[in-house]
Amino acid sequence: MRQAERIVVVGAGQAGATLAQRLRDLGYDGALTLIGSEPYLPYQRPPLSKAYLLGDMDLDGLTLRPQSFYDDLNIEVQTGRAVTAIEKTEKLVSIGDETLPYDHLALVTGSDPLRLPEALGGHLAGVHVVRGLSDIDALEPEIVEGRKALIVGGGYIGLEAAAVCAKRGLDVTLIEAAPRILQRVAARETSNYFRALHESHGVKLLENSRLAHFVGDERVTGALLDDGIMLDADFVICGIGVRPSTGLAEAAGLDIDNGIATNVFAQTSVPNIWAAGDCASFLYNGDRIRLESVGNAIDQAKIVAENIVASLKGETLKPYVAKPWFWSDQFDVKLQIAGLNRGYDRIVTRDSGAGVMSFWYYRGDQLIAIDAMNDPRAYMVGKRLIEAGKTADPNVVRDASTDLKSLMKR
Ligand code: FAD
Repeated sequence: MRQAERIVVVGAGQAGATLAQRLRDLGYDGALTLIGSEPYLPYQRPPLSKAYLLGDMDLDGLTLRPQSFYDDLNIEVQTGRAVTAIEKTEKLVSIGDETLPYDHLALVTGSDPLRLPEALGGHLAGVHVVRGLSDIDALEPEIVEGRKALIVGGGYIGLEAAAVCAKRGLDVTLIEAAPRILQRVAARETSNYFRALHESHGVKLLENSRLAHFVGDERVTGALLDDGIMLDADFVICGIGVRPSTGLAEAAGLDIDNGIATNVFAQTSVPNIWAAGDCASFLYNGDRIRLESVGNAIDQAKIVAENIVASLKGETLKPYVAKPWFWSDQFDVKLQIAGLNRGYDRIVTRDSGAGVMSFWYYRGDQLIAIDAMNDPRAYMVGKRLIEAGKTADPNVVRDASTDLKSLMKR
């Protein structure tokens, strides 16, 4: 293999760590630098709103690999360092006053949480987001039994944070501007399931409830809703979505379209610059989408590594074929999702009792996605069928007495 002088990976998160490791697994033994703006080795984010926030996981458990792992693979990890510019003609990145040359550059910069504007009180002390470890450090002292937590946003992160706060004995209210929680991402059936779950644990869910503004001088003390309702709050967690971290790519003149635009090979508009994970958009069934999930970050990062190595060897590049999957933990329920439910026109419910349930999304006769609650078997069968482009007979799905594995044989 003709070795590149250096591969630089910008963003030491899930995708960055995977990409660097995969390059070594594939035999790339040139210089390899992984640069991350956070002062930590790459770590997993999902537990930040689940086990880690609950206190069931420590920092070691969160960290993907210890320093010795990177040392052994001769991966230079620079933490607490933000890449500030890309000079694509010179093939240099700047880190403040320093520059670093590259032959191939991978952008895996993730996404940034949306914050509410100052005009709504989004700047007040006690208003939090949950994206990184430093957010949890700031939030953790707030989570004290008996205090009042207000969660803004009924997506997965807001609901997970609400579940943790309720489990830790707080008085929890969640407001969602849309008519139902999870509206953007799931069917009404899934929303109903999680509404009932939260309410059974004492979480107050206010749907169709829009924040007018937070109340408080320097520190938040409550919130006024559009409909005049006033809520007291000791602190607030905003889970209102993310935006892809595209600033660096945009300033360098790369194409941006709902994220850093990549082609089917995960290449940006500049061939030796690649992108993966939350920051990257790609075509999926004709739509330019981004997937904010661990599975996508890992799979796409691996394709980038494989295609960089293929480029160095002058070999054919491999297309990225996304196989979307996701999970969420709330109270004692594990939700597992496979496929993308865009454009569904029918839901088939499989109810095995005691909260073990799955919702199967169809477009016409085609199974396109599944939400499975405490039902790993349904998830696994659904996922395999969706990934194989097969469908599932709704009569078999609906009948909880049937063995789902029979669907695989058709
Ligand atoms: P990240 O992991 O965000 O890493 C990007 C890194 O790049 C960051 O460390 C950032 O600081 C760094 N960076 C950005 N700009 C620069 C720069 N200029 N220079 C240097 N470094 C830079 N997904 C699931 O599949 N299931 C879940 O249950 C789930 N739960 C989640 C819960 C929470 C609280 C959060 C926040 C996310 C969750 N996700 C979940 C989403 C998942 O964690 C992300 O999709 C995944 O981390 C994306 O990986 P990434 O490498 O693209 O980005």
